[in-house]
Amino acid sequence: MNSDSMEQTALTRETVSVWKSCLSKIKDNVTQMTYNTWFLPIKPLEFSNSTLKVELPSQFFWEWIDEHYNALIRNTINDVIGQDAKLEYVIVEETASGLDVPASGKTRVAVEEKPHERKIVKKDFESFLNPRYTFENFIKGEGNQLARAAAGAISDNPGGTSFNPFFVYGGVGLGKTHLIQAIGNDIVNRFPEKRVIYLSSDIFTVEFVEAIQANRVNEFSGFYRNMDVLLIDDIQFLIGKEKTQDLFFHIFNTLHQSRKQIILTSDKPPKNLKGLNERLISRFQWGLSADIQPPELETRIAILKRKAEDYGMIISTGILEYIAMNIKSNIRELEGCLIKLLANASLNSKEITLDLVRKTVKEIATDRKTNNITIDSITKVVCDYLNIGENKVRDKTRKKEIVQARQLAMYLSKELTKSSLKTIGLHFGGRDHSTVVHACASIEKAKENDSSIREMIGNLKNQIELNAV
Ligand code: ADP
Ligand code: MG
Repeated sequence: MNSDSMEQTALTRETVSVWKSCLSKIKDNVTQMTYNTWFLPIKPLEFSNSTLKVELPSQFFWEWIDEHYNALIRNTINDVIGQDAKLEYVIVEETASGLDVPASGKTRVAVEEKPHERKIVKKDFESFLNPRYTFENFIKGEGNQLARAAAGAISDNPGGTSFNPFFVYGGVGLGKTHLIQAIGNDIVNRFPEKRVIYLSSDIFTVEFVEAIQANRVNEFSGFYRNMDVLLIDDIQFLIGKEKTQDLFFHIFNTLHQSRKQIILTSDKPPKNLKGLNERLISRFQWGLSADIQPPELETRIAILKRKAEDYGMIISTGILEYIAMNIKSNIRELEGCLIKLLANASLNSKEITLDLVRKTVKEIATDRKTNNITIDSITKVVCDYLNIGENKVRDKTRKKEIVQARQLAMYLSKELTKSSLKTIGLHFGGRDHSTVVHACASIEKAKENDSSIREMIGNLKNQIELNAV
């Protein structure tokens, strides 16, 4: 082995380990489906001088990741590599011969550069708004009527309406983030001098903790008090974080008193935010709370049409209707379906047929189920079924029926989730992984010998899967 290739090997090992650390952080912040679709296919290439070079399978991939996960990637590489970290993308292009070769000269420096961003007024901070979330591409429907109308009024007159704070709530993937960022983008375009900032409440918490450690709490709080428009996403993550809530309360008051606009989102209405300080809840109710409901069929079709157009996809109305009829409660999933189709069609140059669509819709349903089935949800079903208190299976008890329930729950957790034996053991009163192995073996054996056990397991699986939809 010459010295060149030795260096290469050492380099590769470090590169792989840096990328692995990044992946594990990313995994904690995205759904399993997102992780598998967008992050697993990325290949690490090289790491030197704080620059990590990775390879992406297509141009489309790059655009998608840049649009949706720019902030996550930036935070991750800063965490793993340090503040001067850079990420470079190399895009593999499909060639006529069907061979993937890295496109030379296609290296891009992501994260740092955003040529498409309008820089009108030079600011000393970043707004963290994604320019692609606009009013223009937010489809109106019955489910978002009030929220959309209020959003328009606010961006006409930030801080000057009675909608302060503006509190948007609703289930996942229904457009809360899109809508509030659209307000932010619209304000930045129309009132370039206004200081607008967007962040999620968990980022707010992390920054606050860092500020405490660095002894810079005043600076931190001053920064946010100095905004004209403060958009905080997913405020429910402040639950249980007393100190952060206190600080946020004071920032809220300062901004509100000086008629600055505050915009918040949450998965539930203010009054249901149990564990959030009462004085915050009451302030959240000062302005306007508007919910976003899942879209009806017509809106789902309209959204799909618009997105397909944006992606430059040609799909028949029949197929769009099929998707809209089968994916009902989450716009992110509608979009995810198109992306999967596009990825399949463009990577394998397949046509988008109804067959492919059926398969894709099914995949999405499976992904959704896998994400929703947890050790806790399994334990609950098993204990309800056997009429045993959930806490009992976590206790030391060796009573026969409790041991059986515990073993069943362990076995089903192994079967239906991706959790490791160790994690499963931990969920049942900190038991060892060998206990889980033993439980799985006992249930397997009982299944072989006893048809009533087989039947019970079938019923439990059905119930668990039903709950997960
Ligand atoms: P939430 O924050 O409620 O979980 P998001 O705002 O992240 O949901 O929306 C999920 C995806 O669906 C985003 O890509 C968003 O652009 C899209 N989306 C949501 N609502 C609409 C809508 N009314 N029109 C067009 N796209 C939408
Ligand atoms: Mg959101």
